[in-house]
Amino acid sequence: MTPPSPPIDIAIVNGTILPMAGAAPIERGTLTISGNRILALGPAGSVDIAGARRVIDAELCAVMPGLVNCHTHIASNMLLRGLLEDVKLFEWLSTMWRMKSNFDPETLYWANLAGLVEMARGGITCFNEHFDAYDVAPQIRALEIIPLRATLGYGFADRGIYQPITDWSWRTLHGFGDLVAAQHGTQDGRLRIALSPHATYSVGAEMYRLVRETADALGVTIHTHLAEAPQETRYMAETYGTTSVKFLADLGFLGPDVTAAHCTQLTTEDIAIIAETQVKIAHCATCNAKLASGTLPLRAAREAGITIGIGTDGPASHNTIDLFQEMKFAGCINKDETGDVEFLRTGELLEMVTATGADAMHRPEAGRLTIGGIADVIVVDLDKPHTLPVYDVAAALVYSSRADDVRTTICDGRILYDQGQVAGVDEAEIRARFREHALALRAKSN
Ligand SMILES: [Zn+2]
Repeated sequence: MTPPSPPIDIAIVNGTILPMAGAAPIERGTLTISGNRILALGPAGSVDIAGARRVIDAELCAVMPGLVNCHTHIASNMLLRGLLEDVKLFEWLSTMWRMKSNFDPETLYWANLAGLVEMARGGITCFNEHFDAYDVAPQIRALEIIPLRATLGYGFADRGIYQPITDWSWRTLHGFGDLVAAQHGTQDGRLRIALSPHATYSVGAEMYRLVRETADALGVTIHTHLAEAPQETRYMAETYGTTSVKFLADLGFLGPDVTAAHCTQLTTEDIAIIAETQVKIAHCATCNAKLASGTLPLRAAREAGITIGIGTDGPASHNTIDLFQEMKFAGCINKDETGDVEFLRTGELLEMVTATGADAMHRPEAGRLTIGGIADVIVVDLDKPHTLPVYDVAAALVYSSRADDVRTTICDGRILYDQGQVAGVDEAEIRARFREHALALRAKSN
């Protein structure tokens, strides 16, 4: 007797499947899900869907891995969106800090829910959160309601405008083993925690050393800002007589477990160090351009063999958590920077928001559709006025599609968003409570 085959919970039929991670697209493909795993995928007719509990017709749609956002700040930045425009990084950070000092758990909870709604609707199933030193508990609570895959980095700092969180940072770092025991790998393994020292201008050598020791001892990853803007470059030159990358390399801080956001200010030597130490990069082209911070030398970094994903950064500096916008802008600015239209082809940009992005944030289980792999899947509607006639699915996705073209978002085998509705929540209530708390916070912070 052959063993009974696992039940099919979801079958997605008739769409163009893009498995990513180098695998070829499958036209009119079928993908089935059992529990939180992909049971089968292949051309229609080769995959059995008999007895499927739910069939999703993806005619005229792309079926692809959930998108991976390699660097963001949902918790705080939802509350800061549109607060301050047309200023440089350091001025912007100090205004934000005044608001941040008034955060409370309830306000953060509604802000987090609003951020998770935005991501679920936009097809993001996996994100790399960088906290700026306040409580992650409201986000963990929100993730129980809208269960995306997330790595939450505790933010640490000890100087400059971040001085007030110095004691908290040391205390949290010293007790990090307890946090790992309580939170790491929870929510069926979707939730991981990480160490997120803020940046070289806000964290001193001693704290960076302790972060490295803690990461080595506990086996958690690191997520930091690095070489973000000319103001940082000047600060590092004046304070330490070196670059941010060399400063961290000399401390023995850099390694394969580090994801570094931005990296717009890299020298040739810095690129060689990042490649050598196997640090991963989160490319955040829109916020870097908006703050006139510069652009990651992407071609040189890729040629050096560095793994590079794409991040939206927070909605304070990017204003949306839309990876379609981010992917398109990354394509445009890097072609313009290099003067080479052949640089960063559509397929490469799609890899950067899926499989390569997942590798860049140390979540290689995400960002690809494979038999037996986790079921993080999105369905993107290509039958839209702004995408037709769709000669090429990759071109449509990269340069025409928008976050709100996502029709269905599945994370860990669960349908979190479908046909205009995020599952299990009252979206109108989330919007109302978020707006109310945000306006109260601003009034209190003036
Ligand atoms: Zn950031």
